[in-house]
Amino acid sequence: MALIDVGGTLWPNSWPFRETDRAGRMQRLAAALPELDAAAIRSLGEDLIASSRPGDEARSVSTENQVSITTPADELITACLTRQGLPAGAGTVRRIRRAMALPVHDRMKPLPGAVELLAEVHALGMRNVVASNTYWRDADSYWEDFRLLGMAAHIDEIITSVDAGHLKPHPAVFEMAMRWAEAPADSCVVIGNREENDIDPALALGMWTILVYPDDPKPAASRAHAVAPDLWACAKALRDMLDHA
Ligand SMILES: [Mg+2]
Repeated sequence: MALIDVGGTLWPNSWPFRETDRAGRMQRLAAALPELDAAAIRSLGEDLIASSRPGDEARSVSTENQVSITTPADELITACLTRQGLPAGAGTVRRIRRAMALPVHDRMKPLPGAVELLAEVHALGMRNVVASNTYWRDADSYWEDFRLLGMAAHIDEIITSVDAGHLKPHPAVFEMAMRWAEAPADSCVVIGNREENDIDPALALGMWTILVYPDDPKPAASRAHAVAPDLWACAKALRDMLDHA
């Protein structure tokens, strides 16, 4: 199984922060919460957008999420609902989180070679599991993104830090993937662009590793089994790894 990171690996490290994001989120919130009237949506939406703005601005610099270490999305949403005097049931929190996860297909393209890498993994008889740190996005939000980007056919499973309950480098995302695949660590290859979030925890679990930098400067050093400047080189490194395993 290949466990593949997203930001800086399959798509760019950052995405543009847009003025129209506010209107888009208001529309998505209204659609997700039909039981609320327009005034309640406006008030809740303003609160959600204002309280999450520091994180969204940080994500326009890097999709490697740091902010949610201290303010996970569900906690932020629960606090907003409580301030608005609204019940914060798990279902409501989830619908709001998905509404806040704006689709990305109209603002970024997969990095060059991304689709070819996923296809190569399948050609090598392995499964592709997305293993990603996220803030608003859970697996369902990502499925929608990947469908619209034309990548979904090559993805077998998606596990985010929202679904696993911990951000990488915590091993929860990788462990959840191993449970899903019923695969031992030494049959897994982690492909990612961050030594500390992708490579270090994978090595600690006994997995194979490929550090890629299609959207980053060349790393000075890495403990990974292979280092690849782009996703075609990554596909080749993976083939070589299987040949020699
Ligand atoms: Mg990354």
